[in-house]
Amino acid sequence: MKTARGPLRIAGMSAPPIYPARSTDLDRAWLEVDDDALRHNARVLRARAGVPLLVMIKANAYGLGAVDSARALGLPFADQDEGQNQDQAHVSAADRPWGAGIASLDEAEELRAAGCTARLVCSTPLRAEELARAAALDLRPTLHREADIAAWSALSPAGALRPWHLAIDTGMARAGVRWDGVTPLRRILAAHPPEGVFTHFHSADESLVSREQQDVRFDEALAALMDVLPAGCLTHRDNSGGIVSRTTGSPGQLARPGIALYAGMFADELGLRQVPHLRARIVDLRHVEAGESVSYGATWTAPSRRTIATLAAGYADGYRRHLSNAGVVLIHGTRCPVVGRVTMDMTMVDVTDRPCAVGDVATLLGADGHDLLSTEWVAARGGVSPYELLVGLALRVPVVRCTGLRQRA
Ligand SMILES: *Cc1c(COP(=O)(O)O)cnc(C)c1O
Repeated sequence: MKTARGPLRIAGMSAPPIYPARSTDLDRAWLEVDDDALRHNARVLRARAGVPLLVMIKANAYGLGAVDSARALGLPFADQDEGQNQDQAHVSAADRPWGAGIASLDEAEELRAAGCTARLVCSTPLRAEELARAAALDLRPTLHREADIAAWSALSPAGALRPWHLAIDTGMARAGVRWDGVTPLRRILAAHPPEGVFTHFHSADESLVSREQQDVRFDEALAALMDVLPAGCLTHRDNSGGIVSRTTGSPGQLARPGIALYAGMFADELGLRQVPHLRARIVDLRHVEAGESVSYGATWTAPSRRTIATLAAGYADGYRRHLSNAGVVLIHGTRCPVVGRVTMDMTMVDVTDRPCAVGDVATLLGADGHDLLSTEWVAARGGVSPYELLVGLALRVPVVRCTGLRQRA
C-alpha cells in the first residue's frame, strides 16, 4: 500500500529532521519504509553468508509490504525490461537474491499479480489440495510426504519436473521429514529429484550448541540421501540467526534471512540499518495537574503539573498496548515518555520538557534527528518480540517508501 497522492519529499536518513513538512498526504500517522536501508541490510547479509539469498518476504515482508520490498531488494519484475523497475538498478547483479520465500498461496498470488517473476519458495507445508494452484502460480513448494511429491510430479509437464524443495526437520518439530527418517524417501527422491533440500533452526540466534546439533543432523540426512540427490541440488539452512552466528559463511548454496533484513537483529557489529519508521502527528495538547490521571484505567497519575500531547496512533496502528507507561517517542529529536495506556487510536506522551504544537510529528519507532528507537529496543520496552511488532505495524497507516536518494511516487 502506498499513499494515493503525489510524491513525497523525504530527505535522507542522515540529515535531521527526516520527516516531511506538513503534507496533506500525511495528516495523522504513517509508516516510512527505508528501501535504501533494506538494500543495505541485504548486501551486508549476502556478504556475511557468502552465498546468494533466498530473501524471506512472507507475511507481507514482515509487515512492511511484500511487493515494494521485493522490488527494493532487486527481485525481477516483468516490467523491468521497460525500465520501470528502478530498484533493480540499485542492486548489483551479484547481490540480486536467488529468490524469495513466502508462506501462503495468497502471498504468491499478490506477487505474481504485481508482475514479480522471481523464484518463489513456499516455506510452509501445502496440503495436497493446494498443489494445483501452487503449480499455476509457478511456486516452489516445500514437500516431504511421498504422496505429495508424486502428486507434484504428476502436475509437471512431461519431461520437466517442476522444482520443489525437500523439508527436513532437525529439531524444530514444525514441518518436514525427520532427519533420522529420510531413508524411506530415497526411491521417490531418485524418481522425482528436488531442486533443493533445507532445514530450519529453532535457536540459532540464541544457542550455538543447538545450531550445531541441528547442523550435524542435517548433514546426516544429506549423507543418507547423497547418492539419490541430483548434482547441483541446492542445500540451505541459515535463517538470520544462522547467518549472523557464523564467521565463515553459510554452508550450502543459499541462505534465508528474514528478520535481519527488516530489523537490525542480533548483531550491532554488522551495522544493519533501521528500515521502518512509524510517525504520528500531535492532534491535541493539554495540561494536567498533580494527582490527575491520563487514559483508560487511570494507570498513570501526574506527579506535578505536566503537559500531555495526544498522538494520532494507537494499537490499531501497530503501536502495541504493551507500550503503555513503557514506550518512548521522539519529538523534534527529544525522547518523551508514553503516559497511561496506549488506546486503539491515540497515545499520550509527556511533553513538559519539549515544547511542541498540534501538527508536529512524533516518531514512535525509528529515527528522528540523531536519535534512534530501534525495532528491538521498542519491542523490548513493550516486552513483545520484534517479529510481532513488525508484522503489526501496517494495520491501518499508509506505508510510504522512501530512500536517502529519491522518493517513489
Ligand atoms: C521465517 C523463516 C525464515 C527467516 O527466519 P528469520 O529468523 O526471520 O531470519 C527462514 N526460513 C524459514 C523456513 C522460515 O519460515
